[in-house]
Amino acid sequence: MSATTPWITDDLVIFQDSIRRFIAAEIAPHEERWWKQQHVDRDAWLKAGEFGMLLPSIPEEYGGGGGTFAHDAIITMEQARALTTSLGTNVHSGIVAHYLLRYGSEEQKHRWLPKMARGELVAAIAMSEPGAGSDLKNIKTRAVRDGDEYVINGSKTFITNGYHADLVCVVTKTDPEKGAKGVSIIMVETRDLPGYRCGRILEKMGQKGQDTTELFFDNVRVPCANLLGPEEGKGFIQLMQQLPQERMIIALGALASMEKAIELTADYVRDRKVFGQSLLDMQHTRFKLAECKTIATVARSFVDDCMVKVLKDELSAETAAMAKWWCTQMNCQIIDECLQLHGGYGYMMEYPIARMYVNSRVGKIYGGSNEIMKELVARTL
Ligand SMILES: Cc1cc2nc3c(=O)[nH]c(=O)nc-3n(C[C@H](O)[C@H](O)[C@H](O)COP(=O)(O)OP(=O)(O)OC[C@H]3O[C@@H](n4cnc5c(N)ncnc54)[C@H](O)[C@@H]3O)c2cc1C
Repeated sequence: MSATTPWITDDLVIFQDSIRRFIAAEIAPHEERWWKQQHVDRDAWLKAGEFGMLLPSIPEEYGGGGGTFAHDAIITMEQARALTTSLGTNVHSGIVAHYLLRYGSEEQKHRWLPKMARGELVAAIAMSEPGAGSDLKNIKTRAVRDGDEYVINGSKTFITNGYHADLVCVVTKTDPEKGAKGVSIIMVETRDLPGYRCGRILEKMGQKGQDTTELFFDNVRVPCANLLGPEEGKGFIQLMQQLPQERMIIALGALASMEKAIELTADYVRDRKVFGQSLLDMQHTRFKLAECKTIATVARSFVDDCMVKVLKDELSAETAAMAKWWCTQMNCQIIDECLQLHGGYGYMMEYPIARMYVNSRVGKIYGGSNEIMKELVARTL
């Protein structure tokens, strides 16, 4: 990234530089250990909060950094560039905080956002269930009103930050008869909450330091005041309004990742000698990397254009869907080509390209699978 990127102002260049240094000093050195233990250390959240890495785009009156989505974008891209996938800031700052900012009451915002900004509360969003991922209208988790409380029953799976989560944005059915109009989002504070249980940390093929878990709700009682939005039945609309931002976050991460893969591979093939010459001097290598660089440059141009639109609140849902599916698809394609150029070393986990290969694959699946993205685009034909 450079200062010539249309959405990166001089102030953002300074922010980017400080985030890069923080990641190098406080996150990257622990990544290997976090992969083994399957979650980050709890104090990593506190350190990130203290540094100002959490909730950068939330207004200062709620404890945030007072910036814009560009700040979230920079954190996402810097984490991708540094190959650090464990600290789930995208979900915490880029997604849950914005649900609260947009739909939360003043009481809810003041109660949760400052603690999230300090890293004292870790947030997750729980949409997916064992029986419903793409087909969110079909979720079974039920919230039944009982006096001034909701009683929640159900289970969620694949929940990012699940192990550390103190605050979960839970997508429930408050009225199963009404389909999408019966979906509501309820904020659940999990600490010492009877009936709430976090299941095992799921063993993934990549992003292993990221605590992805199942969550169980067995007659969990929360105050009705924890409903997000003024009334029940707004959950599906809230999801549809917020998902484009989530999709841009995934596209931005994929873009930074493809650029990094090309950079790493160009360095590798320059040094690697085969048949008496540098691997980079062979035309096949040069053409492959030229193709990769062309795709990454096209991706950067498209994503920059999307970012300019996001910052003006003009990005359409279908354009966000295009950015998400195409950038994640191209990221996987480029990393596969780059891994091939590493030969056997590319298959060894000590080489960053091998990590990138397993880390990138999920981009085509989560945040709405790429098939669902194409459905969204196709509906506008
Ligand atoms: C590492 C990881 C982290 C995640 N984090 C979270 C999280 O924090 N919170 C959360 O709620 N969820 C999370 N998810 C879940 C993720 O969003 C879902 O896995 C995803 O939406 C797909 O749902 P599914 O797994 O149930 O697949 P399914 O919906 O069963 O889909 C299976 C296949 O069918 C295809 N398919 C489905 N419907 C259609 C259709 N209409 N047309 C064509 N093809 C279709 C899909 O594209 C896919 O290829 C995470 C997943 C992973 C792997």
